[in-house]
Amino acid sequence: MILPPATLGMLGGGQLGRFFVSAAHEMGYKVWVLDPDPNSPAGLIADRHVAAAYDDYAALDEMAQGCAAVTTEFENVPATTLDYLAKFVPVHPSASAVAVCQNRVAEKTFLADNGLPHGPFAVIRCEENVRDADEALFPAVLKVARFGYDGKGQARVANREEALHAFHQFGGESCVLEKMLKLDSEMSVVLARDEAGAVRCFPAGENSHRHGILDVTIMPARIEPVLAERARDVAQAIAERLDYVGTLGVEFFVCGGQLFVNEMAPRPHNSGHHTIDACVTSQYEQQVKALCGLPLGEPRAHSAAVMVNLLGELWYDDNGDYREPDWSVLQAIPNLRLHLYAKHHARPGRKMGHFTVIGEDAAQVLATAMQARAAIGIRDDEH
Ligand code: ADP
Ligand code: MG
Repeated sequence: MILPPATLGMLGGGQLGRFFVSAAHEMGYKVWVLDPDPNSPAGLIADRHVAAAYDDYAALDEMAQGCAAVTTEFENVPATTLDYLAKFVPVHPSASAVAVCQNRVAEKTFLADNGLPHGPFAVIRCEENVRDADEALFPAVLKVARFGYDGKGQARVANREEALHAFHQFGGESCVLEKMLKLDSEMSVVLARDEAGAVRCFPAGENSHRHGILDVTIMPARIEPVLAERARDVAQAIAERLDYVGTLGVEFFVCGGQLFVNEMAPRPHNSGHHTIDACVTSQYEQQVKALCGLPLGEPRAHSAAVMVNLLGELWYDDNGDYREPDWSVLQAIPNLRLHLYAKHHARPGRKMGHFTVIGEDAAQVLATAMQARAAIGIRDDEH
């Protein structure tokens, strides 16, 4: 077991890393963050911020020397970086698990090979693959295999010609072509798995997106209990087959009453932010525990919760002028907790913060959260 006051290493300095740093600090650890951005949200509160690229081997050597174990919050950390660090210190999750989750071709192929539920898709590496793709896939979504997030690197395509066009627009990079599913709803399961194979699942969350970016998570998800149970089983099976150690997020589509895995995130997940305020143990504490070889904590929710993301457009008024949103509106609500990430500059679509409303009555929590969402200025007419 790695015990306090050991120093832990975090690759990536975004908000997920920032919450990891906070959790680790509360538990008595020190944290070094590696992120090239001098203003990274996690770097700002870390005991040490190594501002260097993920493939800067001198910086990696420093991390290996200074940290008792290393984890990541950023799925695009090169697998070679994780492999390199693993020669010197424990690294969780492993390079091989991250490699599957960071590439949509590898991810979809993993699901297919393991008999896990997924939607119809084709791997696209060249024009011929588009020409040969099953007609039944259209209308479809073409997604670049690597580096897409928050709906970036995706194009909705009605037919083969549009798919070819989008493939060229993406520079001929490897892609997956997914059938556009008619979604009843979207949900996610966040879990933690330790080195001995013990798994603790948080209750499933129900997610809604705007412009391809997570907007609201409702926990517990308003779905049939059997579906929630099935989602947990599938998420657990994924973690086991990846021999995953750490916190893992699995996104699902519910379509025609059936469950399909959309994608996996080898890190805490945006839809698990509510665990900070509504669960006995948060997804970030679990990440610390799994990394350090401590027994995992109880994931039980003590409250119903609704989480609302605060995106950069909120920082612009109707005239397009930059200004801070009026936080007093949210602070007036006693069962609401506001989390801001201290990002340097707000851009539209950028995740700047979130709030979580908790309470006993799930319907009341949802009503309060949606009122707060409107009051702070999030409008649905921009769909
Ligand atoms: P990201 O990495 O940006 O989260 P996703 O693949 O999860 O990428 O896609 C973002 C969102 O776009 C999904 O949560 C869903 O709302 C929508 N979407 C993606 N793929 C499909 C699909 N095959 N059918 C229907 N909706 C989809
Ligand atoms: Mg997603």
